[in-house]
Amino acid sequence: MSFTLHGLAVSSGIAIGQAHLISQATLEVSHLVIAPRLVEKEVARFDAAVAQVRNEFVSMKASMEGSPTDIGAFIDLHLMILADPELSEMPKQIIRERRCNAEWAIVQQMEVLVAQFEKIDDIYLRERSYDVRQVVERVVRELCGRPGHVGVKAPKTAKGENLIVVAHDLSPADVMAFKDQHFASFVTDVGGATSHTAILARGMGIPAVLGLHNARQLIRDKETIIVDGTRGVLIVNPDPRILEEYELKKSQLEIERSKLRLLKTARATTLDRVKIDLLANIEEPSDVGAMIESGADGVGLFRTEFIFLGRGDMPSEEEQFEAYRKTVKGMQGRPITIRTFDLGNDKRVLSDDSAGERKRDNPALGLRSIRLSLADPKSFLAQLRAILRVSKLGKVKILIPMLSHAVQIDQTLALLEQAKSSLRGERVAFDENIEIGGMIEVPAAALAVGMFLRRLNFLSIGTNDLIQYTLAIDRADEQVSNLYDPLHPAILMLLAHIISTAEKVNMPVSMCGEMAGDPNLTRLLLGMGLRQFSMYPAQIPAVKQKIKQSDISEITPIVRRILRLEEPGKIQEQLDRLNM
Ligand code: PEP
Ligand code: MG
Repeated sequence: MSFTLHGLAVSSGIAIGQAHLISQATLEVSHLVIAPRLVEKEVARFDAAVAQVRNEFVSMKASMEGSPTDIGAFIDLHLMILADPELSEMPKQIIRERRCNAEWAIVQQMEVLVAQFEKIDDIYLRERSYDVRQVVERVVRELCGRPGHVGVKAPKTAKGENLIVVAHDLSPADVMAFKDQHFASFVTDVGGATSHTAILARGMGIPAVLGLHNARQLIRDKETIIVDGTRGVLIVNPDPRILEEYELKKSQLEIERSKLRLLKTARATTLDRVKIDLLANIEEPSDVGAMIESGADGVGLFRTEFIFLGRGDMPSEEEQFEAYRKTVKGMQGRPITIRTFDLGNDKRVLSDDSAGERKRDNPALGLRSIRLSLADPKSFLAQLRAILRVSKLGKVKILIPMLSHAVQIDQTLALLEQAKSSLRGERVAFDENIEIGGMIEVPAAALAVGMFLRRLNFLSIGTNDLIQYTLAIDRADEQVSNLYDPLHPAILMLLAHIISTAEKVNMPVSMCGEMAGDPNLTRLLLGMGLRQFSMYPAQIPAVKQKIKQSDISEITPIVRRILRLEEPGKIQEQLDRLNM
């Protein structure tokens, strides 16, 4: 049965391949012994989870009114499985008899059922074991909250290039872990367009669609899928005519991309001869190859934390030195801006358990990024020393993320001085004049940018977080992604304010958020005075082409007019005019 799902287009391109469902890890649950007095509470927790999943199925079915009727039938089947006493009653008996936790009880029961299904000769009935697993997985997820690290691996029988990862959710650590398996694409039920998971998809140059709501529930392992990452569409079991159409589109896209690649050695200069710096965002040493391939002038943002995500402990100075050394060497003399760890929120080195901390209600507003670094000066010093040690090997700058208070810069500069003086004492060479810049990604920093200008050598605008914090929209939450708007007048005002204030004191300012890599926004940003753009490498040729077709003297008056507008429709209309 063929059907189509719609989600958020987060990484463009077309992929055609087989579904590779990610489920097992969710079903790896701990076995806990429950105190006798808590057994009935555990049974009630199980009942509540089953009821919640039942409600989700019912509302999923209602929201699919008008979709192909087979999807409704499919959800009915899952409702039936859930209602079967083998799944809805037997686990309660297991909880009571074995005094165990609900997750473990339902997984034990599932294994019994799956083993029975697998003995059946009839292929249709045998395949129902997938449905049982999917239903149980949903209940387990409900019982545990969001799944943790999912550990994605291509099966031995298939090549990553032919597989499309289908998951409920993927953390940045999950994506980093499967980066080297070269999957054709990935799709998830949750996640926003500027979530770090989406950013990684763009960095890997593979199409991705997030926020699909129910893909993980509706798609079966090995089904053929077309992922249209440009339109945010998924076609499951396409008919031969659609498949042929998409094969053609895919090869046309590849031709267009290879034409753009011809711009690799061209200079990014506007029609009125203004030279623009095009830099790359990278996440690990091996990304340097893609950066050089893209024709970038250097690296504008090295997100160092990605190398160490999910490993369980903080990396030592030596480990960091080795990773940064490899990266700086690969730059072949090009400049590189190394950002200190932006950990916390969705990016963790330590697991929740080993951190031994209670979960925070607002992790994006909590101890993350520079706040976390300053709270652990020993680790921060190790990182600063590692960066200083590689500063002699190339053109290295340091970038501090998520600054909001002047005192954070003062403390960072004091620690940097401490790192320098310890290296001097050890007679280790480093660049004494290493430049240090700050990310402007908190509205307070954008409004009071003056205090940053006085203390730093350069600025880099992180629009992903700046938009998140200004508009109060979680960038990773697909439920509010329609409100995540880079063209909101407040965002445009803040960007223009940062750029023009920096310009007045000749302070270099670049942009490394996702806005910098969107060719539809290139002219708008040029007109605001931006001259340094940093983006995922694959996007550099398209932005370069736009720059080469732009005349800043023509653009500037239109952008000034846009900055006076407050009506979203009018802003979009003028932007379209600007891009004509
Ligand atoms: C940003 O916030 O725009 C940014 C570049 O940082 P990150 O996406 O890593 O949070
Ligand atoms: Mg950020």
